[in-house]
Amino acid sequence: MRSDTVSKPTARMREAMAAAEVGDDCYGDDPSVLRLEQQVRERLGKEAAVFLPSGTMANQLAVATHCEPGQTAATHATAHVRIHEDASAAALSGVQIMPLGGRTGYTSRALEELLAEEACGWPRVGVVWLENTLGDAGGVVWPLNTDDEERSSLRSISATARAHGRAVHLDGARLWNAHIATGDSLSDLASVADTVSVAMSKGLGAPAGSVLCGTSDLIARARGRKHAFGGGLRQAGILAAGGSFGLEHHLAGLADDHRRARSLAGAIASCPALDVATPSTNMVIAKVRAPLRGAEELCGPLREAGILCYPNRAQEVRLVFHLGINDEALDEIAERFLRVAAGVLADRS
Ligand SMILES: *Cc1c(COP(=O)(O)O)cnc(C)c1O
Repeated sequence: MRSDTVSKPTARMREAMAAAEVGDDCYGDDPSVLRLEQQVRERLGKEAAVFLPSGTMANQLAVATHCEPGQTAATHATAHVRIHEDASAAALSGVQIMPLGGRTGYTSRALEELLAEEACGWPRVGVVWLENTLGDAGGVVWPLNTDDEERSSLRSISATARAHGRAVHLDGARLWNAHIATGDSLSDLASVADTVSVAMSKGLGAPAGSVLCGTSDLIARARGRKHAFGGGLRQAGILAAGGSFGLEHHLAGLADDHRRARSLAGAIASCPALDVATPSTNMVIAKVRAPLRGAEELCGPLREAGILCYPNRAQEVRLVFHLGINDEALDEIAERFLRVAAGVLADRS
């Protein structure tokens, strides 16, 4: 339950991968890669797509595609590109991250205010960055509509960015989950951005790979940098076939991951010393309070009991559902979790 990246390819996915027709993707003639790129760009309503080894590379190519060195990327405070990519925007592209808002997004007004400072000598915002679902917040959906005080809708931020002539990137590593949770179409969800990255290796269960989509011009630029970033794969169709299989067979099943996450959250909500959020997609986030001092105090014993998990933040236990966890396992997990938590709390008192 460490992440949805840990799910293993199913036997049928492996068969599809073994049978994949391949070419050399660096020459653009791997039919299985071309097929996956077409499937993803059609679903997202974009002109072009490029298959890449990882979501981190997709994001970093988006940074490099939209920004010149010395520019910035405006993101919410805990965007993956800011906190989980080893400061690569700075290291690889000379781009600084400008954090706005909190964990669940930022407002159009905060973006407007940042853009207004450019007239006072602040560096230019080369790309306005969105993420859906929001990883650090625990797979929370960033809605297309409905504004509140802490964050504006994706549509509103996108409109603000575009009114100022700025490019928008959407880190959609878990856009599939947002689609299943909201019922919004993938193309509506993707319409707020010029480039969108999606993972084949998380909820959809493929062993590796992400796809970056956008206009033909932007994707041509990204392809131009792909080799330099180490993304030139050869018979990549074997991996891409895993992605296609996941898209064709595992997308609807994300609803089961979401249902199981809600079910586990309900089961452990009675636990003293835990504040359990209602999951919006496939992650359960349980915040620890006194007498527990940190999430690891619970995560360590949980791992010993066979529930592999790590703190999301120092005070938060994160449990992630994926296609490797069925309903039978769910019952066992809930029972073991409650037993371990009771034991840890009994030791404290
Ligand atoms: C996992 C993830 C990434 C990076 O994907 P990798 O394939 O692990 O490099 C990027 N953004 C978000 C929101 C993610 O959850």
